[in-house]
Amino acid sequence: MTYETVIGLEVHLQLKTRSKVFCGCSTNFGAAPNTQTCPVCLGFPGSLPVLNREALKLAAKVAIALNCQIAKKIRFDRKNYFYPDLPKAYQISQFGHPLSQHGHLPVLSNGKERHIKIRRVHLEEDTGKLFHEKDHSLVDFNRCGTPLLEIVSEPDIGSPEEAYAYLTLLKSILEYIDVSDCNMEEGSLRCDANISLKKQGAKELGVKTEIKNMNSFKGVKAALEYERDRQVELLESGQRIVQETRLYDAERDVTESMRSKEEAHDYRYFPEPDLVPFDFEKGLLTEIEKEIPELPEPRKKRFVSEYRLSEYDAAVMVSDKAMADYFEDCARLYKNPKIIANWLMGDVSAYLSEKNLTIAGVNLKARHLTGMLEMIDRGAISGKIAKTLLKEMIETGKEPGALVKEKGLEQISDEGEIEKAIDQVISENEKIVGDFKDGKKNAIMALVGKVMAKTKGKANPGKVNQMLSKMLREDK
Ligand code: ADP
Ligand code: MG
Ligand code: ZN
Repeated sequence: MTYETVIGLEVHLQLKTRSKVFCGCSTNFGAAPNTQTCPVCLGFPGSLPVLNREALKLAAKVAIALNCQIAKKIRFDRKNYFYPDLPKAYQISQFGHPLSQHGHLPVLSNGKERHIKIRRVHLEEDTGKLFHEKDHSLVDFNRCGTPLLEIVSEPDIGSPEEAYAYLTLLKSILEYIDVSDCNMEEGSLRCDANISLKKQGAKELGVKTEIKNMNSFKGVKAALEYERDRQVELLESGQRIVQETRLYDAERDVTESMRSKEEAHDYRYFPEPDLVPFDFEKGLLTEIEKEIPELPEPRKKRFVSEYRLSEYDAAVMVSDKAMADYFEDCARLYKNPKIIANWLMGDVSAYLSEKNLTIAGVNLKARHLTGMLEMIDRGAISGKIAKTLLKEMIETGKEPGALVKEKGLEQISDEGEIEKAIDQVISENEKIVGDFKDGKKNAIMALVGKVMAKTKGKANPGKVNQMLSKMLREDK
């Protein structure tokens, strides 16, 4: 039997506002416990919520960027349940009339673009945080009332890889529109994954399980792979899937049952009486739309057509907005975009990831990088030396010309000097020279390498190659 995998993702996103969604308390992460609270977010009787305009704006920005239809009227509902991290015993959320619905994300899956449907995007408030100790638990209400966006996909994702691609694109868009820190470790982006199987081609969806507790996109993918395989095994052996919530244990790479659907809540939703329904201010949505920059997918297509980058290079370039902006700054100054992309994806990215930095966080001016590329083109420095020069530029912020002089990195093109180095190499490497003369033409590469090493990488490699061939031929 072959099965189709069906996945739906629920993403919770903390919005980057200075204050909470229904009160003026700060949303800063990492403050001492319970120092960012007030009667509203602590649920004191008689306190009244006031909607944070910026939170609504950011929520609408996400909805527009995800191609959703925005509701005419904004309404809130109470979702009632008791839990110690929720002092009001209800969460202000949206149920029957979410902020927006019917969106999609153009996800690249197996080399083809697929529109994955988004069911709804709605605004709600985050809860506090519990810390479970040995014999008691502690609660921190600082997070309680932080604006939270719930982004729910349709069960429209066909594999764990596609779920990973969906999340990666989603995060990239959210970063482009600058609405959240999107930090899974700090919990500003969280994801629950729902998965079921159905027989190939079947209309009806199978029974799903919901997986929680993943703290990276790779974790989501691994948890879904585990859960898919577990469900296949159950079905193959004639057993049924039980609808339940399961927790992912990253260390052991397994999911385990947390609670079954029988214990599910009846939330007794009803319209929030302290927040009356209202219309968007006239012109606000148009204003928000104008604030949305070119998003990664269209930008990628433009990079392919405008700069002649490959699909792959373009995808890498646009995945981080700061990197894409930087690339375009360079492309305005230097004629060969492919070479810029190669350096950014190669040595620049390697340096950044080694030092755990971002392109926005380092002092490498676009004109310094392109200046270095021009020096390579002119033959003023070798490509090898450029690698050293790049590090120096990032670390000192100095421009390439000055650094080359200061560090003595100029390329040696003077034939006399190169000839001296070649002579030495020939006399020190009789065996390799012998191999070459016996017809092993590749041996010349080893000799070129030795000349380069002797000149500390500064000799012009083209010249070395040319002169070495000539000298070996004459040295019969
Ligand atoms: P629940 O009431 O259990 O939260 P919902 O219908 O609200 O379920 O859907 C929650 C998430 O689960 C959505 O992202 C949806 O796409 C996904 N989902 C729903 N049914 C299935 C299914 N049979 N298989 C996989 N995912 C599903
Ligand atoms: Mg759910
Ligand atoms: Zn408060």
